[in-house]
Amino acid sequence: MKKILILGGGFGGLTALSFLKKHIRRKKVDVTLIDKNNYSLFTPMLAEVVSGNIKPENIVFPLREICVKSGVKIFKDEVHNIDKNARKVICENGEYEYDYLIVATGSRTNFRGNESAMRNAFEFKNITDAIHIKYLIIDFLEKASTMTDSAEKKKLLSFSIIGGGITGVELASEMNDFIRAKIKKEYNTVTKDEYDITIFEYDKTVLPGIDKEQAQKAQEVLIRNGINVINGAMVKEVGLTHISYSQNGKDADKSSTITVWTAGVEGQQYLENVGGEITRDCRLHISKTLNPKNLDAPEIFIIGDSCAYEYKEKILPPVAPLAMQQGAMAVKNILRLINGKKPIEFSYLHFGYLVSLGKNNSVVNLFGLKFRGAFAYWLWKMTYLYKIGMFKKQVAVFFDWIMSFWFGNESVLIIDQDNCTNCILQKNHKKPNKKTIV
Ligand SMILES: Cc1cc2nc3c(=O)[nH]c(=O)nc-3n(C[C@H](O)[C@H](O)[C@H](O)COP(=O)(O)OP(=O)(O)OC[C@H]3O[C@@H](n4cnc5c(N)ncnc54)[C@H](O)[C@@H]3O)c2cc1C
Repeated sequence: MKKILILGGGFGGLTALSFLKKHIRRKKVDVTLIDKNNYSLFTPMLAEVVSGNIKPENIVFPLREICVKSGVKIFKDEVHNIDKNARKVICENGEYEYDYLIVATGSRTNFRGNESAMRNAFEFKNITDAIHIKYLIIDFLEKASTMTDSAEKKKLLSFSIIGGGITGVELASEMNDFIRAKIKKEYNTVTKDEYDITIFEYDKTVLPGIDKEQAQKAQEVLIRNGINVINGAMVKEVGLTHISYSQNGKDADKSSTITVWTAGVEGQQYLENVGGEITRDCRLHISKTLNPKNLDAPEIFIIGDSCAYEYKEKILPPVAPLAMQQGAMAVKNILRLINGKKPIEFSYLHFGYLVSLGKNNSVVNLFGLKFRGAFAYWLWKMTYLYKIGMFKKQVAVFFDWIMSFWFGNESVLIIDQDNCTNCILQKNHKKPNKKTIV
């Protein structure tokens, strides 16, 4: 039986696994999955964890349960390197052999060489990032509610998101909805003029990757909802309580006690050692058959955020549908190679985009059909509810939404008693200076 090794149980890896299920049952292939976590995260709903619309455990999928049900071996281990000549993967706890390899280890935050941001800004990639950001917002609201000086309150409640792409916009909107609802009902010594959420975006509008007219409308909605947008912004320094930036050549400073960096991702660092052609943001260039370019390794398939896939002469941005479609194609090609056939070329089907702008507002483009407003918001919700894919999680998320709709979101500080805020801040500020590629 041929050994197939999948690295990473995210969108790409799990799609590959689902296409392998029937071949595993027929004992045609032996499949192993390696992931550094024992869960998979449904990232499009991560921002809703910050607002409390969704409980954190309801957007993570237990990898062990999925693998055991499908007859797949699973190891919680971290990939360090691929030895292509020996056909094995070197991980923190052991080495794993393969006949065919699917690399789907996603991406990490790309701070674009900004060391101060690396030290002081929060990332927004993992479930713990969302839990920590939510915790700090609530803690700062508690502290602000005891203050009398309005300017001091605003200083403490100044939050920034660097990067106005889909992730940044959705996060800002969820934070805004949460804080607005809380100060109206529970923290009534704080007013809506005493908190501030700012998006820093280099481009002329937020959402530079979508249709221009919809991006402009989305920016208007954000501003109407009270979110500050600073366009043409180049963030220079992220401090513990401030941001220095320039806008149209002019330098400025702004208070910011929680700064979240959503301005880009890059491939995992170990990819640098694999060989082949690598981009500046650490993604491996791939051929049309999804193999690494300039590396004689037709048994290795690189998919999702780990690869740089050229489509109409442009490298596509890293999104979940691309990872999923490539996961399916990698399996198709592996089965063809096992059966002595030539691999076929991948072509990407672009569905469009869905961006939530907070309660009852979204911009959506599905197969060229554009929608805005409340209808688009419900379309966003239903599409992603469907895409969760696991029935018990779909039910849980649906009930989370009903609960938050009827009873509102709670602002309780349950993770720790003794100064958890300091733990979170210190942990964040002590992040090691990892190497990044600008
Ligand atoms: C907050 C947020 C919101 C997003 N919203 C959207 C959206 O609305 N629509 C959309 O299309 N895309 C969205 N994305 C992007 C989308 O999540 C990615 O494009 C997609 O997850 C890529 O799939 P992947 O399989 O390549 O990687 P992932 O799904 O990230 O999976 C990678 C897996 O590899 C594991 N891993 C990583 N490094 C190692 C290692 N060294 N060893 C072992 N395991 C490792 C990880 O634990 C993870 O399980 C969002 C991303 C974020 C962070």
